[in-house]
Amino acid sequence: MFDFDVAYLGSGHSCWHGALTLKAAGKKVVLMDHDLPGGTCTNYGCDAKILLDGPFEFLEGLQRYENVCVDHAGTIDWKKLMAYKKQQLGQFSEAIPALLKRFGIDFIRERGKLIDAHTIQVGDKTITAENIVLGVGQRNARLNVPGQEYLHGSREFLDIEEMPEHLICIGAGIISMEFASMALTLGKKVTFFEFMPRALTAYPEKYVSKLVAKMSAQGADFHFNEAVCGVEKTENGYKVMAKSGLCVEGDYVLDATGRVVNYEDLGLEELGIPASRRGIEVDDHLRTCVQNIYVSGDAIDKKIPRLTPTAEFESNYIASQILGVSDAPICYPAVPNLVFTLPRIAQVGVTVDEAEKCPDVYRVVSVPYGSKNEWIDNRELDIDMTFIIDKDGHLAGAAIYGSEAGTWIDFLTLVINQKLTGANLRNMIFAFPTQTYMIVSTLCTLLSPAN
Ligand SMILES: Cc1cc2nc3c(=O)[nH]c(=O)nc-3n(C[C@H](O)[C@H](O)[C@H](O)COP(=O)(O)OP(=O)(O)OC[C@H]3O[C@@H](n4cnc5c(N)ncnc54)[C@H](O)[C@@H]3O)c2cc1C
Repeated sequence: MFDFDVAYLGSGHSCWHGALTLKAAGKKVVLMDHDLPGGTCTNYGCDAKILLDGPFEFLEGLQRYENVCVDHAGTIDWKKLMAYKKQQLGQFSEAIPALLKRFGIDFIRERGKLIDAHTIQVGDKTITAENIVLGVGQRNARLNVPGQEYLHGSREFLDIEEMPEHLICIGAGIISMEFASMALTLGKKVTFFEFMPRALTAYPEKYVSKLVAKMSAQGADFHFNEAVCGVEKTENGYKVMAKSGLCVEGDYVLDATGRVVNYEDLGLEELGIPASRRGIEVDDHLRTCVQNIYVSGDAIDKKIPRLTPTAEFESNYIASQILGVSDAPICYPAVPNLVFTLPRIAQVGVTVDEAEKCPDVYRVVSVPYGSKNEWIDNRELDIDMTFIIDKDGHLAGAAIYGSEAGTWIDFLTLVINQKLTGANLRNMIFAFPTQTYMIVSTLCTLLSPAN
């Protein structure tokens, strides 16, 4: 007999959603984590970021009315905002153990390591479990250059008491672009060193160029095709040097060069489970080669975006496998991606790049939504949307540039996943005057009219 039916290494979204389902179905479940309960999203990622981002989004909205009817849109006190963020997040890390306790799920505040297919070393004890789920997540990559000790990761940035006067970002991906948006709104200087020829490479070039132009006008310097080769401490801050000879001095250096999976020291090699910085290898049922050991969330070696909702989806899928509800391979629906820059860029489904390469299969329709709908878009005149329609007249993908992109992309994800037609939409009533109403009106003319 085992001590537990299911043991989770980790306590993030890849773990606790499935754990609740399993417990509700009568299974004996344990979670373990040496760090704060709730994982990256709750403590060092999405939640921290969105708490800080909130007032910036409002401020941007108000600024659009300056010289119209708002005299002075105001400023943000970063120190007070940081104190607010800490107070809010403090409640979360207490809430998760309380939630687990309420459901009767054990939580051990220790690191776990596999001893064999059913045994885990947890601190100085061992426990056994019939099934094991590895939801160990990722951590910041650290650039391997001289002076790497002066670099900071996203975790540290999300806790800074003072916004640096000159922020240097190594990498122009999602995390650094989001953080830089806040710094620029506070009137700070930002410099990017990016190895690739452009920022946010996974997102449509035309929207990224628009964002880069906006950020440049606010005081950002983007240096593309630059490989950082060292960082030095100077009298007033830090000097970042690139192989090309480019050299910039600032007072805080953010290493946003990517994230790596926590695959080390888990006992994987001893069990013959292949893994690397990219993730732990699984089959199409999220099982490792040791069939009772599953991997969930960011720790999976996968092409699907590493996001909280995908981690939750995988966690629920694994629970349904363990409960024997289904034995079908995992099948992901369309996954929306959203960058929380100011404004947002979002996309879902078939990308603009993919669609443009297959003109026989897809129709790409760009809508200058902001200038067309000035009366309802809160003076956000540069909102842009692209819809990708397949041969059957269904929405296959969408990309959006605009502050409300998060809400809209979720709605469009539903249209894609449900294969809604123009007739389906016309048979529904939406509130008016809203921005969603206007999007529905546009879609009705583009999608197949058939029911
Ligand atoms: C700055 C930032 C912003 C983000 N913003 C967004 C966003 O806006 N939207 C979005 O969808 N996603 C976002 N993400 C990604 C999201 O946070 C992750 O996809 C999500 O947290 C993955 O959940 P997870 O459970 O797989 O891993 P994690 O949440 O990372 O949890 C893994 C846990 O495992 C623990 N662990 C590691 N090794 C062991 C071990 N041996 N034993 C026990 N425990 C162990 C770790 O301590 C950690 O707590 C962001 C990430 C970052 C860093």
